[in-house]
Amino acid sequence: MRHATLYDTHIHLSDPHYADDMEYVLEYMRRTGTAACCVSTNLDDSAATLRLAGDVVLPFVGIHPQFAGEDVEGIRLMAESHKISGIGEIGLDPTYGTDGQVAAFEAQLEIAEEMGLPVSVHSRKSLDAVLDTLTSYQCTASLHWFEGSKRRLRRAGDMGLYVSYGPLAAYAADKRRLASLTRPDRILVETDGPVPFSGCFGHTPAHPAFLPSVVFALAGALGRTYDSMLEALLTNTQAYLGLDDKPV
Ligand SMILES: [Zn+2]
Repeated sequence: MRHATLYDTHIHLSDPHYADDMEYVLEYMRRTGTAACCVSTNLDDSAATLRLAGDVVLPFVGIHPQFAGEDVEGIRLMAESHKISGIGEIGLDPTYGTDGQVAAFEAQLEIAEEMGLPVSVHSRKSLDAVLDTLTSYQCTASLHWFEGSKRRLRRAGDMGLYVSYGPLAAYAADKRRLASLTRPDRILVETDGPVPFSGCFGHTPAHPAFLPSVVFALAGALGRTYDSMLEALLTNTQAYLGLDDKPV
């Protein structure tokens, strides 16, 4: 792992959208000191993520609530037989029905807890249930694409959870407001690519190149300079990932 100065803490680089451009995406990341937590949504996708793992791609394996019927043991096997950086994207989401979601989420939290790995958590329309579940596990978790109230944000902060903001922060004032109320030592950034973003991004699928815009937006929201925001994000991400190496 080379020294990165900026981390995308949640992106789906194994998505077919990136396949044709992968060389360019990786070259962009290397040249700009960017690294990415490449999250996965099911077993096949986790295997694809492992194939992408490398100097700037940190592999996260996991079963997303949309695929809760898949066998979590497969994730355990991958986690035990490969050098992975975390577990995700896991969580709860009633949009996809609820069959097996709690069991899959809990089983994967257990793997993360046992192996001391960070998790990237999906909590759409389920934040209270996700927070309740996380209270039973000792693992470092990030709430990706946080969409909660100020009260829930406070609860997440009290629980020591990381909260990750994405390209929406560049054009949605309510996201910047939430960011300004987030514990400064728990804030992270992500793109969730290839999700497309509107506003200033013009419905373009997200790319790691969106990150500086997110950092700029957060710096404004938190009343910091760009550089000090970058520095804080780096410190936070290294703590989230359990990395102790310092940037050169
Ligand atoms: Zn995602």
